[in-house]
Amino acid sequence: MRTAVFAPMVLAVMVLALCGCQSQPVTEQSFALDTFISVTVYGGTSGDAQAALSRVDECEALLSAHAQGSDVERINSSQDQAATVDALTLDALQFALRVGEKTHGALDITLYDVSKLWDYKSETPTVPDGADIIRALEHTGPERIIIKGDTVQMDGAHIDLGAVAKGAIGDEAAKTLSQRGVNCALLNLGGNIVTLGSKPDGTKWVVAIESPFDGQNYVGSISFSGSKAVATSSGAQRYFVQDGVTYHHILDPKTGWPARSGLASVTVLADEGRLADALSTALFVCGEESAEQILETYGAEISAVLVRDDGTVRVIGDLEFAPA
Ligand code: AMP
Ligand code: MG
Repeated sequence: MRTAVFAPMVLAVMVLALCGCQSQPVTEQSFALDTFISVTVYGGTSGDAQAALSRVDECEALLSAHAQGSDVERINSSQDQAATVDALTLDALQFALRVGEKTHGALDITLYDVSKLWDYKSETPTVPDGADIIRALEHTGPERIIIKGDTVQMDGAHIDLGAVAKGAIGDEAAKTLSQRGVNCALLNLGGNIVTLGSKPDGTKWVVAIESPFDGQNYVGSISFSGSKAVATSSGAQRYFVQDGVTYHHILDPKTGWPARSGLASVTVLADEGRLADALSTALFVCGEESAEQILETYGAEISAVLVRDDGTVRVIGDLEFAPA
C-alpha cells in the first residue's frame, strides 16, 4: 500500500510577532521557489518589498535545477563541458562545497541523480530500486565539480542547490532592501526567515518552530535581535509513505537513502541565510552528536534547536528558546 503525501509548501516556522517597528509595515507576497514568499518592510514602500521579490525571481532563475536556462540547469546539461555562470551561482556553489567539507560530507550538492530516483515531486513517488541507488551514488561526490574562474564543469555528476538556495536567495533579497535604504524588514521564504535590522522599540523577533510531527502545533519559539536568519530542515517538509514507512527528502550521502539520524527536525539560527539553510540540512543528516561537534567549529554566533524523533528538544548554543 502506498500513500503519497506531498507537502511542498509547509512552513516550518512562523513569525509570531512583527509589531514594534515604528512605521506601518508594508507586506508583499509571491509564489516562488515552490513556496510562498512574503516580504514585510518597515519604514519602506511597497516598491521596496516588490524589488526584494523581484530579486528572489532573478536568483531563482539562476539557481533552480528545474528552470530552463538557469545556471544550474546549464551546468547539469553541459555534458561535462564547462559552463560560464553568474557570480551568485559560483558563490552559492563554493559556499555549499565549504559547508560540505566542514560537515564531513553530510551536505552534498552532487546528489541530484539520487534525489531524482526518489522523485519526491511526482504525484506517486515510490521507493527506488536499491541497485539503482548504488549505481547513482557511484557518480556523486564534490570532487566531480571542477571550478575554473567563472566556469563550472561536471565530471559525470549533476548538482542541486536545493539545500542552500532559499537561504542564499533570502540574503540577496535582504541586500536589495538594504541597498534601497530599508533598515527594518522581515523576509519569509517558505519558512526560511531573514530579518533585517532590529526593531526600533527594542523588542525581539520571535520565530515559532513548527512541530515536525503534525502541521498544527509548535515545539516552541526562538527570540533574537538584529539581522539574522533562521532555517529549518524537517522530514515533514516533503515525504511519502509506502507500506507504512515514511521516506523523506533529505538524503544521507553515504547511503542514498533518507537520513535516519534520530532527528525529526533541525532549526539553525545564524548570521546569514545561506549558512542557516546549509547547516540545517547537514545537521539533520549528521545527527545530534556530530551536530554538536560541528557547531562548536562554527563558534558562538550559530545555534540550533534539534527535535528528536521521540519529540524531545535539544538546544545547542546560546539561544533564547521558549518551549510551547
Ligand atoms: P532543505 O529543505 O534545505 O533541508 O534541503 C533539502 C533539499 O536539498 C532536498 O529536497 C534535496 O533537493 C536536497 N538534498 C537532500 N539531501 C541532501 C544532502 N544530503 N545534501 C545536499 N542536498 C540535499
Ligand atoms: Mg537547507
